[in-house]
Amino acid sequence: MNFADSEVINAILIREGYKLTPDDNAADFILINTCAIRDNAEQRIRKRLHELKALQRQRPVKIGILGCMAERLQKQLLEEEDNVSFVVGPDAYRKLPIILRQTINGAKTAETTLSEDETYADITPVRLNGNGISGYISIMRGCQNYCAYCVVPYTRGKERSRDPQTIVNEARMLFEQGYREVTLLGQNVNSYKWTGDTGNEVSATGFPQLMARVADISPLLRVRFATSHPKDLSDELLQVMSEHRNICRCIHLPVQSGSERILKLMNRRYTPDWYLNRIDAIRRFLPDCSITTDVIAGFCSETEEDHQATLQMFRKVRYDYAYMFKFSMRPNTYAERHLQDDIPEDVKIHRLEEIIALQGEIALENNRRDIGKTFEVLTEGTSHRSKEQLFGRNSQNKVIVFDRGNHHTGEYLQVKVTDCTAATLKGIVVNSTEE
Ligand code: SAH
Ligand code: SF4
Repeated sequence: MNFADSEVINAILIREGYKLTPDDNAADFILINTCAIRDNAEQRIRKRLHELKALQRQRPVKIGILGCMAERLQKQLLEEEDNVSFVVGPDAYRKLPIILRQTINGAKTAETTLSEDETYADITPVRLNGNGISGYISIMRGCQNYCAYCVVPYTRGKERSRDPQTIVNEARMLFEQGYREVTLLGQNVNSYKWTGDTGNEVSATGFPQLMARVADISPLLRVRFATSHPKDLSDELLQVMSEHRNICRCIHLPVQSGSERILKLMNRRYTPDWYLNRIDAIRRFLPDCSITTDVIAGFCSETEEDHQATLQMFRKVRYDYAYMFKFSMRPNTYAERHLQDDIPEDVKIHRLEEIIALQGEIALENNRRDIGKTFEVLTEGTSHRSKEQLFGRNSQNKVIVFDRGNHHTGEYLQVKVTDCTAATLKGIVVNSTEE
């Protein structure tokens, strides 16, 4: 999400004549786009700010903090970090050109007003360090689900969807520029709903209709999406996916916990049974779909029994990949106001390690089942390990590494899996599928 936002920021500043430099020593401004989801994300930024002081002693470079940490701390951040000149929240990026000008004159600015309708729909992002093959498209902003542990509703404001025509246009433009994969982004993409200026619910564009429109641009354009909330994962969406081969067979469905009690405390609005019912629906509509998740270990009052329920959930679903986190108490959230961060650090770490170990075994077993199968792979670049090898992803979003031969980035290839680790598949090209 921040990556996509940085591309919007890039577009806004380039339009004003600014140029991007990868070199700290050449920069007049350093803009740091930040995350506030867990405390360690913020600590990393504080460390980076401290390191940048050496550079500022040599050159008059101005530093700005953007994104969720900026929104969360607002002008307090200017007070706490004396080398920061400006703080700009996620809905105020259009003001950056003015803010940069003010900063040159020595002003310190905090602009953190949240909006109910800003979607940056009219701004075509200018891509950053991309491979020219896969790009992100932000389709909605904000979230108002108020999960008890989460800062996002406070740092990104109300949920709002972007005009579908602007999304389709952006995807088509990327395709015409040679992109072969777009990922539609939002905190809860599947609650996407556009009612236009009329506010008419009946003629609204929902997420399934939007997906179909983007997928219809070309069968050669892969479409992915993240993140979906289990409560909004409809059969209608699964039906649309099953009708379009180019909508990738991968669903990221954050579970957070396997315990009914903890899910309720987290305000997730589903039970383990409901979640498993959605998993069954995915398997029914899309038998070759991979499923990935997010999970939090050590949420307030989590017992060993609750933790075992999470492990059990992992065994039942057999995720292909998981982002696994230790609970981090965030200021101002429901959890901070009403619950106790009462699980000792060593217990949190131990539970997290148990989940990681189990998930490692499951991912390896899942990957082993892919050995012998042939997948269509979109080639994304040279393997990090060897220049002689390329890597790409299959529809299930698994990375596959294979010998380069005469192939190049952006090509669709048929690759047969010959070996694997828990993280990567290895294969050989059996045929090229592009004309
Ligand atoms: N909107 C998405 C996820 C957004 S945040 C969703 O609802 O699924 C990404 C992930 O960070 C979450 O899924 C959650 O697993 C994790 N996370 C959020 N707040 C956290 C906290 N306070 N401590 C630990 N992990 C957290
Ligand atoms: Fe946070 Fe919950 Fe919204 Fe996801 S759905 S961004 S976890 S509040």
